[in-house]
Amino acid sequence: MFDLSGRVAVVTGGNGGIGLGMARGLAAAGAWVAVVGRNAEKNKAAVAELGEDSFAIQADLTEKDAADRVIAQVVEQAGGIDILVNNAGTNIRRLPQDVTDEDWHAVMDANLTSAMRMSRAAYPHLKANGRGRVISIGSMMSIFGLPLSPAYGASKGGIVQYTRSLAVAWGPDGITANAILPGWIETELTAGAKRDIPDLNDRVLARTPQKRWGNPGDFAGIAAFLASDAAAFVTGTAIPVDGGLSVHG
Ligand code: NDP
Repeated sequence: MFDLSGRVAVVTGGNGGIGLGMARGLAAAGAWVAVVGRNAEKNKAAVAELGEDSFAIQADLTEKDAADRVIAQVVEQAGGIDILVNNAGTNIRRLPQDVTDEDWHAVMDANLTSAMRMSRAAYPHLKANGRGRVISIGSMMSIFGLPLSPAYGASKGGIVQYTRSLAVAWGPDGITANAILPGWIETELTAGAKRDIPDLNDRVLARTPQKRWGNPGDFAGIAAFLASDAAAFVTGTAIPVDGGLSVHG
């Protein structure tokens, strides 16, 4: 039921952080995994770790034609696509009154438009096998607001609503679409936030009932589950993986 042998997965931002955590989970369940990222060194290291059933594609997904190129390359290498994980993301921390058009578009393009373009390009291949999976990474900022993350929050709210549209539109094709909403996870992304917000560590530990930061390994199981036949009737959801943060009153 949880076996992904013979399935082909694409993980954007799969060369580090949460994406690599999910790539590890998918590979451990038997999937062939393509990781997508801009940094060639990180791509190489991820493939060295994931093993011979993995492959890296260097791409900046904010570029207009990148998604089509990535999907075409995966299909050429692996013969199809069963699982798409839209994980690549970034943040530019500014108060709403200070956000420039450039900031806004940079965050939207990396976090939301890339997911749309990857999903659109993957659709015929996901449809062809009758059991396609789209897993997209939202955030607790899909639910809560933070003063320094207006564009980021809007992009992550967009991921949840986009996921619901996919679930409804592509349900008849046997494709499921779900979002994962991470809490506070220790990665390169939050290392930057810790530098900008001196009391962040104390606030995270105070708000998170499990009294710890999450780590990329916390995402291996949920990714493998959502990609598997076990989750065939799970679609349109937004699942928190947050140590209880979202239910803490
Ligand atoms: P990291 O910064 O560790 O990883 C981000 C990944 O995205 C890297 O692999 C990076 O690879 C890739 N990436 C970024 N921009 C692009 C781009 N334009 N084109 C291609 N790849 C890109 O961050 P996280 O692991 O923390 O973040 C992963 C996802 O989880 C993001 O969507 C983030 O918003 C979300 N998230 C994270 C939380 C946290 O607490 N860490 C909380 C909630 C959500 P490269 O540098 O090689 O391009």
